[in-house]
Amino acid sequence: MATPSSSPENTDAAHRLGAVRSRIAAAAARASRDAGDILLLAVSKGQTAAAVAALADFGQRHFGENYLQEGLSKIETLRQTRPQTPGLVWHFIGQLQSNKTRDVAEHFDWVHTVDRAKLVERLSSQRPFHAPPLEVCVQVKLGEEASKGGVSPTDLPALLEAVDAAPRLRLRGLMALPPAEIEEARQRRWFAELRHLYDRARLHHPTLDTLSMGMSADLEAAILEGSSLVRVGTALFGERLQSMP
Ligand SMILES: *Cc1c(COP(=O)(O)O)cnc(C)c1O
Repeated sequence: MATPSSSPENTDAAHRLGAVRSRIAAAAARASRDAGDILLLAVSKGQTAAAVAALADFGQRHFGENYLQEGLSKIETLRQTRPQTPGLVWHFIGQLQSNKTRDVAEHFDWVHTVDRAKLVERLSSQRPFHAPPLEVCVQVKLGEEASKGGVSPTDLPALLEAVDAAPRLRLRGLMALPPAEIEEARQRRWFAELRHLYDRARLHHPTLDTLSMGMSADLEAAILEGSSLVRVGTALFGERLQSMP
C-alpha cells in the first residue's frame, strides 16, 4: 500500500475511517460477532474523486454511488489517475431506471437496488461476457411510507428466483433503506424484519451471503440485527459537497 501523504484531507480521512471502524468493532462486540464479517461500503455520492482516493490510501476498497453519471465519471477518474490502486470495487446503490441498466451492467461490480423483473432481464443480458457475473442484492421495501424503491415482501420470492436464474447475475443478498428512526430499538425493529426475510430466503437460496443494511446514523442497530454490509457516507466523508441526481 502506498504511504499516504499527510495533507489535511488525508488526516481527516484517516480519522473518520478509524472512527467508523471503531464503531463497527464496538457494535460487533456487543453482538458477539466478528467485525471481520462486516464489510464497510464507503458511500461516495456527493464526494470528489480525490476524497475517494484519500480513503483508498488507507485501505478502503469498496465504494458506493447513487447517481449514474457522477459514479461513472468517478470510476473513470480513479482508473486514470490511480492505476497503482487496483482492486477498487464499485457498488451501484441508487434507484435504477430501466433505461439506465447498461451503464451499471458495464461499469459496476455490484448493484444493491434490483427490485423488479425487468431490471433482472436487462442487467443480465447487458453484462459483458468478459466480466464476471454482476453481484446483485435485491432491495426490499419495508414500511408503508418507506419512500422509493423496493420489492414488497410478498413479491420477494419470485424476484429472487428470477435473479438466481439469470445467467450473468449472481444473487448475493438483500438490501433495505427503512424509514429513518431516532431510537435504536425502533431502528432494530426494521432491520430485524429484513433479517427475518433473509433467513427465510436462504432456505431456498443457500448462496445468499450479504445483508446490506445500516448507514451512518444506524449502523450499530443494523449490526446488532445481523448486517454483513454497512453503507456509510457522511460519517466517513463529512457533509456531501455536491449532489448530481
Ligand atoms: C446516501 C446513502 C447511504 C449513506 O448515507 P449516510 O447517511 O451518508 O451514511 C447509504 N445507502 C444509500 C442507499 C444511500 O443512498
